Amino acid sequence: MVIIMNADATAQNIKEVIEVIEKAGLQAKVMEGEQQKIVGVIGDKTRLAMVPFDAMDGVDTTVQISKSYKLVSREFHPKSSVIDIDGVKIGGGNFVVMAGPCAVESREQLLESAEIAKKGGAQFLRGGAYKPRTSPYSFQGLEEEGLKYLAEARECTGLKIVTEVTEVEAVDTVAAYADLLQVGARNMQNFRLLKEVGRANKPVMLKRGLAATLNEWLNAAEYIMNEGNQNVILCERGIRTYETYTRNTLDLSAVAAVKHLSHLPIVVDPSHGTGKWRMVKPMAFAAVACGADGLIMEMHPNPAKALSDGPQSLTPENYLELMAGVKKLYAFLQESGLAIDHL
Ligand code: PEP
Ligand code: MN
Repeated sequence: MVIIMNADATAQNIKEVIEVIEKAGLQAKVMEGEQQKIVGVIGDKTRLAMVPFDAMDGVDTTVQISKSYKLVSREFHPKSSVIDIDGVKIGGGNFVVMAGPCAVESREQLLESAEIAKKGGAQFLRGGAYKPRTSPYSFQGLEEEGLKYLAEARECTGLKIVTEVTEVEAVDTVAAYADLLQVGARNMQNFRLLKEVGRANKPVMLKRGLAATLNEWLNAAEYIMNEGNQNVILCERGIRTYETYTRNTLDLSAVAAVKHLSHLPIVVDPSHGTGKWRMVKPMAFAAVACGADGLIMEMHPNPAKALSDGPQSLTPENYLELMAGVKKLYAFLQESGLAIDHL
């Protein structure tokens, strides 16, 4: 961080700024320009996060040079993180697929979905038991009953379970059943929830908020890691733009950007990212090609009867075909040396 002083800042003004910096245990370095003086801060400036330098006498403005997140950043941890979820690794060259219905609707629907997900080669079964729906009249999820079906599906197939937790009060319950806790787009900046999952003993997949910048998203991940939970996976699921044809605009450039900014694994959700099942395969292939660490996709035994997100859900046939393509593409990229290497 550098603090730019006003042209008419007095020596006393500069002295006061330096005192604040040194009191926090950091070093201050004064640089004299032709017009203005600049005070550079050396050291861990998170210790100065609460100081409103801009409000001090003689200060013109402050400029952040390093990022406001630290634990999440690649500068802090240069090697890509590998998250080990009970033997299933993600990140650092380990690719995973999570597939299943948007919502757990019944025992039969979920067990059937789990068998299909496994047949296609997914490592995780997805399915929401607590559903954050836009309308209060839409299906809200089976809650703990749904979690029990997810646990049963894990027993039957050996798949890991990823499912959303929507509120602080439900974290312990969801963590008792899930292998991976999902924080959804709508809750990306629910800071109490982020802190709570940061204290949970389970890995967390943090979806990008509907209108979140990369900086806001990575800071949200910092909340989780700052509570002690280092097992965080990011998920790009599309953002709100002026385009209305698609449900969201899938920002695949976020994969390349996040890989530069952070060591955390990032998966792509082409289902919510587009809202259209026809677009899921091309975007899934594109996600593989740009170096994502995995995919999360909605698949339903009968999308036409789905209680949630049917239009973006793959049929079992489409899912199996997509998975065959993903495997071929992944292998081709590895063998040809064209795989984007984010190690
Ligand atoms: C979901 O995964 O079903 C979901 C609600 O996703 P998002 O939070 O990305 O909208
Ligand atoms: Mn959904």
